[in-house]
Amino acid sequence: MAVKQMRRIVEGEVPFDAGTAVQEDADRPVFRGNGENDYVCVECGNVLAIGMSAEHMTKRVRIRCGRCRTINVSAEVPVELSRRRAPR
Ligand SMILES: [Zn+2]
Repeated sequence: MAVKQMRRIVEGEVPFDAGTAVQEDADRPVFRGNGENDYVCVECGNVLAIGMSAEHMTKRVRIRCGRCRTINVSAEVPVELSRRRAPR
């Protein structure tokens, strides 16, 4: 099993329709599956999801850390800034 660090959501990043999963209990991962990776918070290293496969950790999967409140997304998801900002 591999441990993967997630990344912080960038300000202005496109909001996706799926909501952000909130970790209510910092000692309990939000997601638990049968995949090969564990995912940890970029800021404090808290475990947010365990046993997840990379294909499940898409841009729709965002997790707010129960310890430091950082919103994390899989580091493999590219940053897509919103194009809806007013043109200059
Ligand atoms: Zn954290």
